[in-house]
Amino acid sequence: MTSIKNKLDHSQKRIAQAAKNVSREHQEINLLAVSKTKPVSDIIEAYQAGQRLFGENYVQEAETKINALNVQYSDIEWHFIGPLQSNKTKIVSQLFDWVHTIDREKIATRLSEQRPHTLPPLNVCIQVNIGKEATKSGIQCNEIMSLAKHIDTLPNIHLRGLMAIPSANIEEQKARLELTQLHTSFIELKQHYPKVDTLSVGMSQDLELAVEHGSTMVRIGSAIFGARPNKKET
Ligand SMILES: *Cc1c(COP(=O)(O)O)cnc(C)c1O
Repeated sequence: MTSIKNKLDHSQKRIAQAAKNVSREHQEINLLAVSKTKPVSDIIEAYQAGQRLFGENYVQEAETKINALNVQYSDIEWHFIGPLQSNKTKIVSQLFDWVHTIDREKIATRLSEQRPHTLPPLNVCIQVNIGKEATKSGIQCNEIMSLAKHIDTLPNIHLRGLMAIPSANIEEQKARLELTQLHTSFIELKQHYPKVDTLSVGMSQDLELAVEHGSTMVRIGSAIFGARPNKKET
């Protein structure tokens, strides 16, 4: 069996090659290791291989894992990448460094109000539903500016960029179209908010395409930790 370290190295090589293909610096692209459903021991193995950014989707599962690791591995940066209900904003604002899935004002407001003052502001991304799929969360591209404007008024969260999950099982040409629209929205957002620096897109299957279209953070799960038990995903 290939070790987690080998699979991390392999993912980094894929990122570097994809970056090179479009004359980008691979340092511009961060690798977020998505550890949902995987045990704490896998996270430690990845940590020991040098990985520091981890993504989790499920609040309860994340709480257990983060509490188990927080003291000894205090330089892990935790990213929440799952759907967020308002009754979970408090615990998320306490546990995480980033939230990628902001899709409405109410969630943003609550996160800012509930962020403990002992912690630096929470970094957030607006989730965009680029495929306009009914089953996916996220807002439409033409709604980004108004939500960004609201987030900008909140003291304890910082807008860092956009996040998207491209449609599954579509032709490459359609995927390219979605990613191009996302990249255009990202550039526009950056023009209004110079501190915006993060385009969170790309997963195990499509990281090359995402890097070609301006991704600055790819979220890689199965290519690092192996396949997950079959569970309905968002
Ligand atoms: C599970 C998940 C990933 C990782 O997906 P893989 O295909 O395993 O790389 C990335 N982003 C989000 C939002 C996820 O839920």
